[in-house]
Amino acid sequence: MKVMIGLEIHVQMSEAGSKLFCDCKANYRGMKPNTNVCPVCLGLPGALPVVNKRSIELALLAAVAFKCNIPRYIVFTRKHYFYPDLPKNYQISMYEKAGGIPICRGGYVKYLDVNSWEWRECRIRRINIEEDPGRTVYEEGGIVRSPYALVDYNRSGVPLLEVITEPDINSPREARTLVEYILLTLEYLGITNPRLEGVFRVDANISIEGGERVEVKNIGSTMDIEKALNYEIMRQAMIINSGSKVERETRHWDAEKGVTRPLRHKEYEEEYLYFPDPDLPPILISEDMVTKAKEIVLGFDITILYENILKLGVPRDIAWSIVTIKPSLDVYIKTVKLGADPLVAAKILGIDYKGELKERNMDLYEYNNWPPPETVYELVRLVVDKIYTYDTVKGLLIPKIAENPKVDVRSILPEKAENIEDIIDSVIREEEKAVKDYLSGKKQALNYLIGMVIRRVGKRAVDPRVIREALENKLSKLKSSM
Ligand SMILES: [Zn+2]
Repeated sequence: MKVMIGLEIHVQMSEAGSKLFCDCKANYRGMKPNTNVCPVCLGLPGALPVVNKRSIELALLAAVAFKCNIPRYIVFTRKHYFYPDLPKNYQISMYEKAGGIPICRGGYVKYLDVNSWEWRECRIRRINIEEDPGRTVYEEGGIVRSPYALVDYNRSGVPLLEVITEPDINSPREARTLVEYILLTLEYLGITNPRLEGVFRVDANISIEGGERVEVKNIGSTMDIEKALNYEIMRQAMIINSGSKVERETRHWDAEKGVTRPLRHKEYEEEYLYFPDPDLPPILISEDMVTKAKEIVLGFDITILYENILKLGVPRDIAWSIVTIKPSLDVYIKTVKLGADPLVAAKILGIDYKGELKERNMDLYEYNNWPPPETVYELVRLVVDKIYTYDTVKGLLIPKIAENPKVDVRSILPEKAENIEDIIDSVIREEEKAVKDYLSGKKQALNYLIGMVIRRVGKRAVDPRVIREALENKLSKLKSSM
């Protein structure tokens, strides 16, 4: 059964600073309703839009990253419809059939499928820049039971990227992986923060062999992409298997119930009365802008960053684990530059420190939760120079650093190995009988000696494996000198 999936991914350019056509903030989270507004984004009569140059530059980064064709100039169009959250009664977008020119067309994403560790490709049809409408808020019970609706215009006019793919995707898992990869790319380019509430929405077109195309709207998380598409494949397969035909329609993803439902009759394209926005002249995209974008994209290409870590001999799952969390990659690169062993540093950051943060329910994406590179360098040195075993660093030091990432490593070191050596030497001197037993082949005498060392070390944190290793070394030297 052949499945074809194409996606429309709407991502807010939350890092653009201001809204697309006014100075209000692009990130409205945490603000009181209707406080992030002005005459432009409220659509008051006489207010004129002025394009936020930053959002054009950011969109251009996406266009370059996905190897699209970039036009000499772009043209915004109006899409008309009436809804309380759309104060102008039109949304500014880039509709090609009405004279709009999108920021780019015809590129592709080469993305890593981490389920098979294979690289896949999905073509990009085009990328549009458009504005987000406001938000309609209902009382408990939703649109059906709420006695009234509240409208919040804080989001009205926030710049959106609309990434439209060709139907090159063949499974729900692939669709999810692709969206995750695109979001990660946009995050690295400083375009968006994918973890902000409501920062992206996905519409999916899906058809299975022998049926018409169905559009599923309103998917709000990467996990839901997989769920919604799995549900839709099952629904459509049942229709085909029962001998009926899948009709072309638009459906709505109900995340709470985990089902797709038919949506109200959809307007025809003509009903939107599209035309180029007369308030917004075409915007030139200079070669200079494109060159600058290319330079930035090169420095943040996650494919290159990932492959550079592989070249250091790091296994692919650890390398990918580091790349997917930007603060950990930043610390990793700096730690390796300081001269740290790349594999040990990767293990610390990509597995054990990350695991420790997760266990503590700490934000992995918060820079302040990661230690400075000097600290990681020090941890790597302790392991490489065999001052402590990796397990000691993992079990005793990493939790303390996660607790306070700025802590001075020297202040939390377990009992220094040199001191332990002294203790071991004196135990060997004093426990003559046990030493003799051990050397004559009674291996269990070693445990007694370890116990004696631990007793003298007292409450100070020492890894028993370190003691065992050091004792064995010393005893075997003793034996060879006899
Ligand atoms: Zn505004």
